[in-house]
Amino acid sequence: MTLRHEPPYVLALDQGTTSSRALVFDVRGTLVASAQKPHRQIYPQSGWVEHDPLEILARQTEVMKEAVAACGVSPKLIRAIGITNQRETVVVWERATGRPIHNAVVWQCRRTAPDCDAIRAQGLAPRIADRTGLIIDAYFSATKIAWILDHVPGARDRAARGELLAGTVDTWLLHHLTGGRVHATDPSNASRTMLYDLHENRWHEELLGIFRVPAAVLPKVLPSSGVFGTLDPSFLGEPIPIAGIAGDQQAALFGQACFTPGMVKNTYGTGCFLLMNTGRTPVRSRKGLITTVAWDLGDGPSYALEGSVFNAGSVIQWLRDELHLISSAAECDRLAESVPDTGGVTVVPAFTGLGAPYWDSYARGTITGIHRGTGRAQIARAVLESIAFQSDEVIRCMAEDAGAPILSLRVDGGASVSDFLMGFQADLSGVPVDRPAVVETTAFGAACLAGLATGVWPDLDTVGRVRATERVFHPSLPDAERARRLAGWRDAVRRTLSGDLPGRGEEPAG
Ligand code: ADP
Repeated sequence: MTLRHEPPYVLALDQGTTSSRALVFDVRGTLVASAQKPHRQIYPQSGWVEHDPLEILARQTEVMKEAVAACGVSPKLIRAIGITNQRETVVVWERATGRPIHNAVVWQCRRTAPDCDAIRAQGLAPRIADRTGLIIDAYFSATKIAWILDHVPGARDRAARGELLAGTVDTWLLHHLTGGRVHATDPSNASRTMLYDLHENRWHEELLGIFRVPAAVLPKVLPSSGVFGTLDPSFLGEPIPIAGIAGDQQAALFGQACFTPGMVKNTYGTGCFLLMNTGRTPVRSRKGLITTVAWDLGDGPSYALEGSVFNAGSVIQWLRDELHLISSAAECDRLAESVPDTGGVTVVPAFTGLGAPYWDSYARGTITGIHRGTGRAQIARAVLESIAFQSDEVIRCMAEDAGAPILSLRVDGGASVSDFLMGFQADLSGVPVDRPAVVETTAFGAACLAGLATGVWPDLDTVGRVRATERVFHPSLPDAERARRLAGWRDAVRRTLSGDLPGRGEEPAG
């Protein structure tokens, strides 16, 4: 029998917003086995989102055991564990028992929006942006931790006595997986809390003061690639080192081997998440992008610029579920390719406003250029194109902010399977679009961080070679044609912006 997989193995734990997954990779980067289980989304009231931390821990532990059992190799051959996680979500728990004192407050949760308004009203936004690279928003962890401490009776006193611990989901899992021995996180997660100074690489007392978070509850920040602790043998029977941690988007940037400044990854999911490696200096955006730590391999942080597209794959879902123009996402592709162009139709899917570089939360979607001959194929094509146009605008912001051109665009996520979309992205952005063979880049990134720390892969070059390209889409559109297409898009966007429409300043219904 030929050996299909080659030891040693690395186990990646991918704790996401809706499910927990565990994936085993071999030394060649081949996915050997995986398991996945969802957890409940808890909505206590409008705009609030919670998870049960114990449920997350239980599901994550179950899938870890399942994946290891499924790959049929001895846990002795698993050299390291990497953790990647939904970012910004926070848990507060008892140091002595490991029991959470409240449900996890999830990144999507808007309950602390008024607290953020109050901090903004004090004029603190520029100082906070300077230190953290972030824009004050309920999305980030700081106000969520303070909320739990303020709303659970006695929590502030207990925190002052050192009885409570807090952290993002990586920290919560790490605590339990190490049998309660380790309270740590990595800088990619820390940099999403709004408590972490990007330049000094530490929790900053000024931020702790502004957000009223006691230093005593916070984890130690250790390099993303390095041994954080050892898996308690009660889980798999072996004390496997937990040797890599990164937030999901940063892990994907690493898994895509975007190690050089100027390299960008785009995850085409429900929305798009774009990250650009900017090297050793945190670049402050003038376009409303976020500055974040990409990772720390033990020799200091690397940074990234981050931007997102609010509606991407969701627009395909809208075609399917609301307009009933298609029956599946794959049909959208086939339709788009059945016509040579959109016949002048442009879809601007500003369902929830427009992000970078417009930042118009009152904008709503438009379809322009419709004529009597417009059919569903043209609309389907314009929908896929809209995903590329919106991504391109973020890419252009990144290039301007970084003052350097984009070298390559590496892609993953559900909609990256669309050859039409990837080809159009390459044409529009004028860069090669590189789609990997293993599209599980988030989990793969966590595995790479852990494997790098434990000698599974000796150096970054080796890690880079483990990532295999499935296909590269080369730009072929003439410059003049690209300029014409971009001008058409901007014209459609102009019609979408709320501008001086009556009623601006009030949130439209729906
Ligand atoms: P998320 O992690 O945000 O839930 P995924 O990475 O699973 O998202 O991607 C799901 C998205 O991919 C869906 O919104 C869907 O519209 C899109 N998608 C799936 N298959 C295709 C396809 N063949 N062509 C284009 N888009 C697709």
